[in-house]
Amino acid sequence: MSRFFSKKYSTLVPYTPGEQPKDVKYIKLNTNESPYPPSKGVIEAVSKEGGWLQLYSDPECSLLHKELSSLYKVEKSQVLATNGSDEILNFAFMAFSDKENPIVFPDITYGFYPVFAEINNIPYEKIPLKDDFSIDVNDYIGINKNIVIANPNAPTGMYLELCEIEKIVKSNPNNVIIIDEAYIDFGGESAIPLTQKYDNLIVTRTFSKSYSMAGARLGFGVANEALIADMNTIKYSTNPYNVNRMSQIAGVFAIRENDYYMSNCAKIIEARKYATKELEGLGFKVLPSCANFVFAKSESIGGEELYLELKSRGILIRHFTSERIKDFNRITIGTKEQMEFLIKEIKSILEEKR
Ligand code: PMP
Repeated sequence: MSRFFSKKYSTLVPYTPGEQPKDVKYIKLNTNESPYPPSKGVIEAVSKEGGWLQLYSDPECSLLHKELSSLYKVEKSQVLATNGSDEILNFAFMAFSDKENPIVFPDITYGFYPVFAEINNIPYEKIPLKDDFSIDVNDYIGINKNIVIANPNAPTGMYLELCEIEKIVKSNPNNVIIIDEAYIDFGGESAIPLTQKYDNLIVTRTFSKSYSMAGARLGFGVANEALIADMNTIKYSTNPYNVNRMSQIAGVFAIRENDYYMSNCAKIIEARKYATKELEGLGFKVLPSCANFVFAKSESIGGEELYLELKSRGILIRHFTSERIKDFNRITIGTKEQMEFLIKEIKSILEEKR
């Protein structure tokens, strides 16, 4: 730390992203990316748009907001595209939480939430998941605090039914509820339609997972018009050109080629079923997942050991060190072939240990 670093950040512990190795060519099952490339239309549109990079991007993201609003049947004034969904999440923390309006989230969830809270000086509280890692909805009913819930949750992959989400939103009418749907396309029902009924709900989404575009950094939020206007105040006070030209056009074409992406999601769901069954056959406990990853624990090998063994065999998975989940690993679902290779390598690791 330099002697100039502001005291207000001196205790800040930044978010640790998953490894993005540049040395070896790993099978990357560690950061929940899609194993499939973007659609042809996206690739072509991005390369054409490159010829206009001398000009700023559209700060209003007009075309993209139009496509998003027609896909989700909401008004254009109810969507806001951002630089990854991390940015809309940060905007939501900044806009609606402060010392008087603390925020709560589960103890096991997306590791960026406490960082957004810390950097914005927002008091926060972690509510423990139940022993089976599910969310106890009663913990969130009428608590009069802002809430952020990832649904499906990460890194567990576990999904909360839409009617349960609605109970939480309805019972806290004077607080903002953020539902982070980064993984919703892999098996859950979206809460976006509820934004038409409740003025305190923000649903955040990303193009990073189901739309094969983690490298484009494109996310968005859907909410009541007034909440979007507030988050626009934050956007125009920090970075009006937050979504670059190529990512805007990539998003537009991805929505126009929605069928391609939804069929990839169906393949990933199939590969998830296969991987779950095989892992269970090898004695793993696998939490029920509605995401493009599974969270699994073996009786015969520790989480860290399995991570290191697989890494030495060219497969990257994600291991977390926090006490409650240190025996687990989060494994991104890739293609069926990648899952077959993973299972083969795990079998051989377990055999060698015997
Ligand atoms: N929410 C959750 C639950 C995530 O796992 C991630 C991915 N790290 C994000 C949001 C952010 O994704 P992105 O910024 O790539 O849209």
